[in-house]
Amino acid sequence: MSGGQRAFDSGVERSRALLPDAPELWTYSSLREVETCALRYALSSASYPDLWDGYGYPRFVHPSALFGDIVHDSLERIVRALVAAGCSAASTPEAVAVLRALGGYSVVATEALEQRMAMLDGNPRVSATRREQIQRLLADRVPEARVDVQTRLSRLTLVPRRGRPAALGLALHSGGHTRTALGPGSYAEVSLRANELRIKGRLDLLTISASHVDIVDHKTGREDPDHLDQLRFYGVLWENDLAANPSRMPMGELTVAYPATDITIQSPDASELDRITQSIKSRVRAADEQIEADPPVATTGPHCVQCPVRSICPAYWDSMNHDPTSVAPNSWFDFEGIVGDQNGAKSWWLLDRFGSRRVLLLRIASGAELAQGQRLRLLGIRRDHDPGVDGIVATLTTTSESFILSGEIAGTR
Ligand code: SF4
Repeated sequence: MSGGQRAFDSGVERSRALLPDAPELWTYSSLREVETCALRYALSSASYPDLWDGYGYPRFVHPSALFGDIVHDSLERIVRALVAAGCSAASTPEAVAVLRALGGYSVVATEALEQRMAMLDGNPRVSATRREQIQRLLADRVPEARVDVQTRLSRLTLVPRRGRPAALGLALHSGGHTRTALGPGSYAEVSLRANELRIKGRLDLLTISASHVDIVDHKTGREDPDHLDQLRFYGVLWENDLAANPSRMPMGELTVAYPATDITIQSPDASELDRITQSIKSRVRAADEQIEADPPVATTGPHCVQCPVRSICPAYWDSMNHDPTSVAPNSWFDFEGIVGDQNGAKSWWLLDRFGSRRVLLLRIASGAELAQGQRLRLLGIRRDHDPGVDGIVATLTTTSESFILSGEIAGTR
């Protein structure tokens, strides 16, 4: 691990990043992220002292991602309560009583929504207007979240942890520092770690029976083979967590639970587990090296358009097509340029990034302010069709973002 903290100056105002060292333990998703683009991992988990006190780069909020979080949080809370009460399924009279005590599915989902909204406090990428918009959108989707949670729970089988006080069971796996062997029963949100392999993970549901262990992971997105790889990773994690699994209890089934269906596979056999273990070891070594590089390498590609740190990634802006003429009307695109002449009360001409020619007319919402000569990066502006304007017309909408460039672009020191 490197000694001093490395700084990365992207050239965007107030966005100097202090890059992290490689983590003590890697998760499945952090390894995947480094393998996609090491700079993305580094910038996402860096600290930004001039911007905010929060962890990593402030998150851009997608309502659909927040919806998934709400479903996940609601499930977690209900499954924990069912497990603590010794229920074997969501349909039993005991489970119905547990759900009633929680206030019912809609109340649980609404409370999860409120908690997720509270987590946006202080996020400089979420304006008050945008926040209200997101809150309204998600409040409208609470009935959908309720149905999703209810459907998933109806497919779930739990094994009560007999003879183990519920409170003790929770303390063992909910972030407490004492980690001991897990006995028979179901466990929601179990944190596992395999120190020797330097990996960790948080499993949605782990069920230990007399002869084997089953894992269920809930996903709110589309089916993806990556989800099964993640479960195999968890299989290796369980196999190598000597505190939680000292007796090396074998794995049974691995299930990815989607909104409408489950996909279940058998656990990898011994030789497959060994192959995955060796692969994880070399992936961890490679990820360490990539993150310790100065700077971590940027890998551009189609994934960049969804990248949460592309606003501060010089490689992205250097590699992109800066000509918006090929963007179809009503499509969204990113643009870097210099503010030129004001055209009207709410519209400005934008020049190319060298200031040499007009490229588009940008319409802005009331309240937004631009100044001639400003160098801007705009994310998610919408191309509009206006036959009355000789040139490309785009709009800075409530979901668009603008970043002001200052000084030199890119580099480490
Ligand atoms: S925009 Fe692309 S190249 Fe830049 S950090 Fe993101 S994924 Fe990497």
